[in-house]
This record gives sequence, structure tokens and C-alpha cells, in this order.
Amino acid sequence: MNNFSFRNPTKIHFGKGQIAKIKEEIPADARVLITYGGGSIKKNGVLDQVHAALQNITFFEFGGIEPNPHFETLMKAVELVKQEKITYLLAVGGGSVVDGTKFIAAAAEYQNDPLELLPTKGAHIRKALPLGCVLTLPATGSEMNGNAVITRWETKDKIGIFSDLIRPAFSVLDPETTYSLPDRQTGNGVVDAIVHIVEQYMTYPVNGKVQDRYAESLLQILMEDGPQALKDPTNYDVRANIMWAATQALNGTLSLGVPGDWSIHAIGHQITALYGLDHAQTLAIVLPAIWSYKKEQKKAKLLQYASRVLGITAGDDDQRATLAIEKTREFFELMGVPTRLSDYGLDETVIPAVVAKLKQHGRLKLGEHGDITPDDVAQLLKLAL
Ligand code: NAP
Ligand code: FE
Repeated sequence: MNNFSFRNPTKIHFGKGQIAKIKEEIPADARVLITYGGGSIKKNGVLDQVHAALQNITFFEFGGIEPNPHFETLMKAVELVKQEKITYLLAVGGGSVVDGTKFIAAAAEYQNDPLELLPTKGAHIRKALPLGCVLTLPATGSEMNGNAVITRWETKDKIGIFSDLIRPAFSVLDPETTYSLPDRQTGNGVVDAIVHIVEQYMTYPVNGKVQDRYAESLLQILMEDGPQALKDPTNYDVRANIMWAATQALNGTLSLGVPGDWSIHAIGHQITALYGLDHAQTLAIVLPAIWSYKKEQKKAKLLQYASRVLGITAGDDDQRATLAIEKTREFFELMGVPTRLSDYGLDETVIPAVVAKLKQHGRLKLGEHGDITPDDVAQLLKLAL
């Protein structure tokens, strides 16, 4: 195990009826901005529960944060924050609302042009408004981490930022809020969480016994309960298992002391930025391609995953590694997330466009060894057609 230092300050309120706890977390004299997306929280009663919890607190609302939240939209919220002298942000929704709210928190406290906060511009977050979260879509782990992924619509750039200052102070995880998810989002969420786990697991082995067994357990839970959630969307236990597993998939614990890959996300982000596919759809396309392309390098872990997570025992090493990749693809398809570019009407013209974006962002050495170059990306994406 490699050395590490770890602290995760986000307080979690998990379970039925926990939205009421918000009032204990937000100061009584706060001026709160509730941020949300396209309106699902109005239809499923979540916003009503938030209103009830904020009864004696002054609040305002900003809706319309789109999936893959746009810088341009978030800047409108920053204006409202300044105009109404907001002191606390409350994100109510999926990863896009949470990520977008993290950016609003930093941008509202930044004296220059907030565009500078997107890393290609190089400025750092030094201050941010406090924020809390009511999560309605288990997927990203954003409810318990310091990451945010922001899209600049004008230039088709999707950029990740990180700061301890934009971690939620608290997050409410009530599995009942996820009963209303469309199948597409339930599937997306399970796929995204699984890919977060394997970005921190499917690497070269170090002595990461704790992290390995932890990752394998979370993978098994998501693979058992994901299909159940599609069959029985209001099964509380199933929704609870998925919600808590997805949070732990990217709250910082799995990555401690072990290498991280993250090439699947790096390439996937460019496909979303250019063609608008859902985040998880791009991951389902890229994962089988990268694992096939890097099969020899990743073989030890692929074999461990094959046996411990998928129960594959028959065949020689190469057959078992290949079957593990195919079974993972089949699982994504079972969750309703297609795994080839052609399934989304895309063809080989995607390849030079994605490579150009990676070069533009200086992402020239991807993967746990830093050995996936833009030329490699061009080769491996051919496996995803
Ligand atoms: P999302 O983009 O937040 O939401 C997708 C859709 O699901 C929206 O149309 C939303 O509708 C709907 N929805 C959410 N909760 C619902 C509910 N309970 N019932 C019915 N519909 C609901 O999806 P996401 O997968 O959570 O977030 C994706 C974003 O997170 C991407 O930008 C991705 O890059 C980023 N991401 C961040 C991290 C991180 O660590 N921060 C990690 C991975 C990915 P409404 O808009 O109407 O609510
Ligand atoms: Fe993700």
C-alpha cells in the first residue's frame, strides 16, 4: 500500500425522511439559494420536502441546471447569488446540479473572471460559499467529494475541477427520492458508479488488499442490485444499497494507497462535450475498448476481477480476461446502456475529433502508467465502433 493522508468532512444523513435534517445543518440566519435541474424535484415531491425543512429560513431558487452543467447557465446563478446576498447553497438533484452548485460556490467568491477557475486557465479556488446537497440520483459521488465537471457550451469543452473548499458540508441521501428515476438514469447511475470503482481498481497490483476487497464488494452489490432496481424501482433496500454503494465508489476511500487509471473518464468527457451523449453512455463505450487494448498490461487485475467478482473460473488466462471484458459489456447492456459508438449513430469521424480535444486539453499521457498517448486513443477507439 502506498502512503496516504485522508480526511472527508462531508456529513451524511442517510435514509427515509432525512431531508428534514437540513434545518439542523443550515444556520437560521442564512440566505439560502436552492439550485435544481429541469424540474424532476417538483414532480416527485422532493422540493416540497425541502421547502418544509426550510420553513423558518430565507430562501431563493434557481432552476434549469442542465445535465453536464453549462458554465453559461451557472454564471446566471452567480448573478443571483450576488444580487440576493446569498450565504448558503443547497443543491437538490443529480450530479449535474451538485457539480454545478460547487462551481457557483467558487465563482461567487472569485474576484476576477470565473472562467479562470476552469483548470486550463490555471487559477485556483481560494474561497467558496458553503453548500449542502439533497441527492436524487446515485451515480457520481459528487455528494461526498470535492470534484465538479463543468461544460463550456460555447467551446464544447468539458472540464473537471477539484478543491476541498467545494466539498458539500452535508448531504442527504434518501433512497425514496430515487424511486422516480427513469430507467435510463438508473442504468446510467449504476454504470457510472461501477466505472468509478474500476478506475481505482483495474490497475497494476500494489498491496491494496483492503481497497481491492472493498472495491470488489461494491462492484458485486451494484451488479446484483442494479438489475433489481430496473425490475422493482420502489424496492427500498435495493435503492438504498445502490445509493450508498455509489457514494462510496467516489468519496476518496477506494483510491487511498493505490494507483488510479481515469483514462475512461478522460476520453468519455470529450465524447459528451462533442456529441452530447450521457456521461455514463460514454464510459460504457470506452471501458471495453481500453480494457481490450490494455489487456496484457491489466491482465493480473482482470483475472482477479474475473474470478472474485464475476465468478469466471474456466479457460486459460487469456480466455478468462477476455470473458471478463465481455461480461462487463453485457452487464452495461443489461442496464440499458449500449456500449458501441454505432449504437448512438456515431462513426469513425469521432476519433480525430476526440483526439484533437485531448491534445487541446494537454491530456497526452493517460492511464495509471501515463502511457496512453493520443495515438493510442485513436487506435483503441477503433475497437469501440
Ligand atoms: P444528472 O445529469 O444530474 O441528471 C440526469 C437526469 O436525471 C436529469 O434529466 C434529471 O432531471 C434526472 N433526474 C435526477 N434525479 C431524478 C429523480 N430522482 N427522478 C427523476 N429524474 C431525475 O445525472 P448524473 O449522472 O447524476 O450527473 C452527471 C454529471 O456528473 C456529468 O456532468 C458528469 O460528468 C458528472 N460527474 C461528476 C462526478 C464528480 O465526482 N463530481 C463524477 C462523475 C460524473 P432534472 O434535471 O429534471 O432534475
Ligand atoms: Fe463519472
